[in-house]
Amino acid sequence: MNRLELCDISKKYKNKPALDGVSLTLDTGIYGLLGPNGAGKSTLMNIITGSLRPGGGTVKWNGEDVRTLGAAYRSLLGYAPQRQGLYDAFSGRRFLAYMAALKGIPKKEMGGEIDRVLSYVNMGAAADRAIGTYSGGMRQRILIAQAILGDPKLIVLDEPTAGLDPKERVRIRRRISALAGDKTILLSTHVVSDIESIAKEIVLIRAGRIVDHGSVEELCRRYGVSGLEDVYMQLFGEEETDGPADTL
Ligand code: ADP
Repeated sequence: MNRLELCDISKKYKNKPALDGVSLTLDTGIYGLLGPNGAGKSTLMNIITGSLRPGGGTVKWNGEDVRTLGAAYRSLLGYAPQRQGLYDAFSGRRFLAYMAALKGIPKKEMGGEIDRVLSYVNMGAAADRAIGTYSGGMRQRILIAQAILGDPKLIVLDEPTAGLDPKERVRIRRRISALAGDKTILLSTHVVSDIESIAKEIVLIRAGRIVDHGSVEELCRRYGVSGLEDVYMQLFGEEETDGPADTL
């Protein structure tokens, strides 16, 4: 069973609310967290993954507070943060070995597991090159590879397509889509096309609050429009986005 519950999560930075009473339940499948820059997406993901303590509220996995679950929660969680200090001097493979050790993957399973995630993101050929020589798309793929080490049930990906060209966006989107199955995947973006075709549910967030959520079809019906882009424009149209036009 997969059940991630966010119960009335709040967070302030110096008295300025970044999250204000966020409640949501996720089961298996891909969830797209969609909202303009500054909406609170990264803050929420950092709280879900335990990288940041909420000011208030609880995160529960299958009914238990994740703070109580501790290491058991961390071992079922894979996280690709947005601005990761990637180790430029490390090879992709060495970085993955380091992350696998942090995740407590046993030594005898490590080699096979690293090969599995490398081939999943199609990075086998570049695995022994220094990360410093990677393109933006290759860096994102290595970040996704480390997030799926150990086959976690819950995968959190913060803007996994940030900085990628449209072709790479499509490739990453397909890889993420193929991951789903029995997993819970939460993926943030401010680019509608990243999630429109792959997410079972879209969670729309602005100014630290969930404005609405539902499947693309439900949302389109509710707002009387034919696509998620129109929902986004109705809700957030006046806000600035810096996403590249994605016409694929
Ligand atoms: P998003 O990921 O949707 O772009 P963030 O979660 O990064 O949004 O930010 C939500 C709000 O919190 C923004 O107003 C942002 O400026 C603020 N914020 C985020 N991180 C910090 C921080 N470390 N210190 C102060 N303010 C922050």
